[in-house]
Amino acid sequence: MNERLLKAVEDRVDDLVALTAGLIRFPTVNPPGEAYGPCAEFLGARLGKLGFETEFIRAEGTPGDSDRYPRVNVVARFDGRSPGPCVHFNSHIDVVEAGDGWTVDPFAGVVKDGKVYGRGACDMKGGLAASVIAAEAFMEVHPDFPGAIEISGTADEESGGFGGVAHLARLGYFSKPKVDHVIIPEPLNKDRICLGHRGVWWAEIETKGEIAHGSMPFLGDNAVRHMGAVLRAFEDELFPALDRKMTRMPVVPEGARRSTMNINSIHGGQTEDFRPGLPSPNVPDWCRLTIDRRFLLEEDIATVKGEVTGILERLKRERKKFDYEIRDLMEVLPLMTERDAPVVKAVAKGIMEVFDREPDYVISPGTYDQKHIARIGHLYDCIAYGPGILDLAHRPDEWVGIGDMVESAKVMAIGLNVLLRGTTG
Ligand SMILES: [Zn+2]
Repeated sequence: MNERLLKAVEDRVDDLVALTAGLIRFPTVNPPGEAYGPCAEFLGARLGKLGFETEFIRAEGTPGDSDRYPRVNVVARFDGRSPGPCVHFNSHIDVVEAGDGWTVDPFAGVVKDGKVYGRGACDMKGGLAASVIAAEAFMEVHPDFPGAIEISGTADEESGGFGGVAHLARLGYFSKPKVDHVIIPEPLNKDRICLGHRGVWWAEIETKGEIAHGSMPFLGDNAVRHMGAVLRAFEDELFPALDRKMTRMPVVPEGARRSTMNINSIHGGQTEDFRPGLPSPNVPDWCRLTIDRRFLLEEDIATVKGEVTGILERLKRERKKFDYEIRDLMEVLPLMTERDAPVVKAVAKGIMEVFDREPDYVISPGTYDQKHIARIGHLYDCIAYGPGILDLAHRPDEWVGIGDMVESAKVMAIGLNVLLRGTTG
């Protein structure tokens, strides 16, 4: 009998809309990390009223943290009447800058035509509000539930999560036995379960040269030409090879079901700042290239790196005066929670009850905070599930559908029921 649970969610629609709009009104823009404190306090106060114990944790010393822009996180916990597992809903409270092209005020929380508009409506204040309403409805219908519910609002996901989930995970907030199951209400669409993401390797390659007068390049050694040889080898060998690597991971969009690599930037030689408005007159003695390689569950990171260093080493043997350095900037291993994991099965049951169909299982092309929960917290029963259409994230006139939020709150409430009470009814 889920009727009471579903009705308890429906009874809270106005509250859900007001909470979403209220969260949007804090311009938690990152960078620089504006208004985290007031937004966390607003959420904490709301949960405190429901009986949650709230903690505010500032991630001092993490990137961007300062007295002007403190990285404030809130973690709220409600213990049930008897011991049992803990379900944690984690949402990031930061948003990207509004940018141009809006037809409504991005931080007013405008409600019209069944949608709530604003920066962060979809990514992911609507999902955060839906998880609060789901917990509220569940707690009202099953006040004697065993176990615990936690809800967190965390900083800095848009800039890597170091002052948010990574920091909390280091402090033990995302590990057993404190937490057993994690749902991240990112906007992956209300009938899809996101099981994880591809791996990431960012690196900087530098080729070396020898400075000389531009009129006599033969006296120097051109680092940009050396990088040109690197790029040619990438074009001829690496890109075609990556394109042939397909994964069993259900990544969306489908184009991301292969290995990819982006050249993020290339810089070489002296910049124009050296002589404002004029190009350098010299043979460049350095050139730097940044790569963003996204890899698959079927690939290991040593092989991924070896494909690039293999090319560089060969050039070193074959090309006169070629020398290079390579520096790792970031690495994240690919992640995929299995379909029979408890949190996946519980949310799948919710989706089947609410939509009368099996969920779609997807993998995100890019990473999000799940990486820290796995790598630092060693907690693997984790998914992303939430309302909102992924394509609307970070765009002008971002919105979240009220109906979508209500339906996903129902799914989350049923998920709680399955994980904490072991029943869908
Ligand atoms: Zn997000």
